[in-house]
Amino acid sequence: MEKTQLTGRIVTPDDPDYELARTNNNLSFPKFPKILVFCRNVGDVVNALKWVQENRVPFRIRSGRHSYENFSLVTGGLVIDISEMNAITYDQENMTVKIEAGANLGLVYPRLWEHRTTIPAGTESSVGLVGLSLGGGIGMLSRLFGLTCDNLLELEIVTASGQRDAKLIRANTQHYSDLFWACRGGGGENFGIVTSLSYKVHRISKVSIFSITWGWEDLEAVFDTWQNWAPHTDLRLTSQIELRAKDANEILAKGEFVGTASSLRALVRPLTDIGSPTKIVVKEVPYIKAVRFFDEPSGNLPAHRKRSGSFLKRPFPAEAIKTMKHFLENAPNENAAVWNQALGGATRQISPSETAFYYRNAIIAQEYKSTWSHSTEEPQNIRWIEELRKALSKYTNGDYVNWPDRLIKDWPTTYYGKNLKRLQAIKKAYDPSNLFRFPQSIPLPSDHNKR
Ligand SMILES: Cc1cc2nc3c(=O)[nH]c(=O)nc-3n(C[C@H](O)[C@H](O)[C@H](O)COP(=O)(O)OP(=O)(O)OC[C@H]3O[C@@H](n4cnc5c(N)ncnc54)[C@H](O)[C@@H]3O)c2cc1C
Repeated sequence: MEKTQLTGRIVTPDDPDYELARTNNNLSFPKFPKILVFCRNVGDVVNALKWVQENRVPFRIRSGRHSYENFSLVTGGLVIDISEMNAITYDQENMTVKIEAGANLGLVYPRLWEHRTTIPAGTESSVGLVGLSLGGGIGMLSRLFGLTCDNLLELEIVTASGQRDAKLIRANTQHYSDLFWACRGGGGENFGIVTSLSYKVHRISKVSIFSITWGWEDLEAVFDTWQNWAPHTDLRLTSQIELRAKDANEILAKGEFVGTASSLRALVRPLTDIGSPTKIVVKEVPYIKAVRFFDEPSGNLPAHRKRSGSFLKRPFPAEAIKTMKHFLENAPNENAAVWNQALGGATRQISPSETAFYYRNAIIAQEYKSTWSHSTEEPQNIRWIEELRKALSKYTNGDYVNWPDRLIKDWPTTYYGKNLKRLQAIKKAYDPSNLFRFPQSIPLPSDHNKR
């Protein structure tokens, strides 16, 4: 049998652009692949998948490079990078868009804006649409239009059944509907290599945005007000609040409302009335300006990071807020923070079993995060995140699979809750030899029993 050759743009450690090619958004947990292949079409993807099977080489799939734990990299193996496959085909008549899986949000939003449309997706422009969609996809239009995966109509994915093959499947609610179910919340790299995603689009023109800033002393009152308001307010309004380390002396709430600035001013009154805000901004802007407003430059640049997360199904009692405050008073540096995004609205109108995204009943997604500049600071930052997550765990549920944390022991149940069993059955049907595996890939049913 003729041996398959890798096709596409190939980068190896001897090439001058190797460092750039291998570097992900998180500079911690670095990995040193033997080869990176930048695929340019489905043929390159199929060849790469056949090649790893024939040569028994470990591999990972990569798009936007934002995996918190660098699960899209592997030392000594092949990285199948699809970021150069990023064409966007807009269908005006049907209000749909087909996007090659390598596109990041920085490409997607401006392209859809040309048609005054959008899809609900994340905030940072360098985040890959595919990783975001496969795990769910939370953003500033979630409460109005749902998660990114709720707007997915179809995807194309190259799977391998264990016969040293690779075939392209088109999955939607009619065909391969079980795989389509799993790809809406089951996370990346579990079933195959996604090559394109099709979504319904929504009309959008002007929106209103707000940002309100307070000092440290208002933390408890502000968080309590926000958590009781943000998940239940008008569903056209999605907001977030960041509680920063005490030294940063900043509590910052931001939000996006599909409506007028005067309506938004009235809606945010519970926030403007609490504590002593140091800055209040409420304004109406073209939607694309709002996209830029939420796109933090610091998130797009590679840095040393540790992040983890959880969901809240009900508001925190006073003692949980005090716990957060205590940790933020004793943070390893001023970049450490607890970040919260309001859910509810459209994200909750779908049942936990309708897609693989399990935490439909959550009111808030909560993220613990820290960034530092020197690798010697890593241990205390990781310890802080883990101790904080554990201290709050009696008030929280699970974790978002797109915020993976390799220190969570029972990660399959933590990410997937009661959807785990069905995901494992689908894994067995489409990847019986467990070709697609990484430290937190969905285990085959037999492997999970051994755990
Ligand atoms: C700065 C920052 C901002 C973020 N903002 C948001 C946000 O606003 N909302 C939100 O919901 N999440 C957000 N996230 C989390 C983000 O959704 C996840 O990190 C997501 O997995 C990133 O996907 P990626 O393609 O960029 O990353 P990658 O590292 O390329 O991939 C992530 C995972 O998907 C797999 N994968 C990549 N391409 C494919 C493919 N073609 N087929 C199958 N599997 C594939 C990878 O193997 C890996 O396991 C953010 C993360 C960061 C670091």
